[in-house]
Amino acid sequence: AQKYVLTKYFQGEPKNTDFKIIEEDLPELKDGEILTEAEYISVDPYMRAYMVGYKLPVDMIGGQVAKIIASRNETYPVGKYVTGSFGWRSHTICNPENLKGKPGFSPFTLLPDLTPHPVSLALGILGMPGNTAYFGLKEICKPKPGETIVITGAAGAVGSHVGQIGKNLGCRVIGFAGSDEKCKYLEKELGFDRAFNYKTTDIRSALREGAPKRVDCYFDNVGGEISSTIMSYMNKYGRVAVCGSISSYNDPQPPKVTILQPAIVFKELKVEGFLVDRWINRWEEGVKANLDWLHDGKLKYQEKIYEGFDNMVEALVGMLRGENTGKAVVKVK
Ligand code: NDP
Repeated sequence: AQKYVLTKYFQGEPKNTDFKIIEEDLPELKDGEILTEAEYISVDPYMRAYMVGYKLPVDMIGGQVAKIIASRNETYPVGKYVTGSFGWRSHTICNPENLKGKPGFSPFTLLPDLTPHPVSLALGILGMPGNTAYFGLKEICKPKPGETIVITGAAGAVGSHVGQIGKNLGCRVIGFAGSDEKCKYLEKELGFDRAFNYKTTDIRSALREGAPKRVDCYFDNVGGEISSTIMSYMNKYGRVAVCGSISSYNDPQPPKVTILQPAIVFKELKVEGFLVDRWINRWEEGVKANLDWLHDGKLKYQEKIYEGFDNMVEALVGMLRGENTGKAVVKVK
């Protein structure tokens, strides 16, 4: 068995030399325990943001889809798949009873049969990013049919999902993403009303063009200056779901952004940050809603699949640089 241990704090982009890959022996299973083998491991932006707070060395955190390869627990037979916050490791021994209902970004779950879809969806639209989109949009933005939603990071795992839910709820949906190809995908494949390349477009002109009735809901995945501009273009009583601030995760200094309190005051905006584990007790509701949309053809997905346990860091960096459309995952073997 192998695992990644973080031995140096990230400086700028994560590097292979920030980690050590450690070999470990696996003990015998005790009653109630299972042994799982990682099939897909997730790379997520929070990994870059969170690892600054741990005492080193520390096992690398992260969600997995893993196959049960040995079991001393009848409820969890060999051959079934589970998800869990197992970290960047090839094999895991655990007692599911100790993990159920524990807070965390990838709660322990026995996966239902997802055929014809890949099990990796449990790290994407049917997992943590899917629930972030579902609860973040519904509970924080509370969009009404006919309203305009703007999404940054729109072609990523969370953003591409938020936009599709927005369309399912009868809203006008505008996305900002980092390439023309991503924007084309959002408009042509996912039904976004408009998508703009934030790297090459003037944000104000894009908003005037894409959101003629201004913005009622802003789902903020990136933070920074673009968020200030969007918030200053909102309607009275607009709602902002502050989901992430990826534009500054690699920066050692806090970002310098325009002060936008006047917009918040005079438009009477509601700006709320959230973490998806707030809805840990409603986790299944989100997964079911997303699964129903998937079955009804109302939720599409794309994955950027990196290959090989040795390429975890390359995958994390690739995702942070924007190589992915949809969810970035690593296929372990
Ligand atoms: P994504 O799949 O969206 O991947 C990250 C994307 O961020 C890249 O593809 C890239 O796309 C974009 N990006 C990178 N650098 C910048 C930048 N400087 N400015 C703008 N965009 C940038 O990741 P997720 O969907 O998993 O996460 C999206 C956001 O949601 C993150 O901020 C994350 O931290 C947050 N999040 C929050 C959760 C919560 O509980 N609050 C839970 C899950 C995620 P592009 O080509 O468009 O630049």
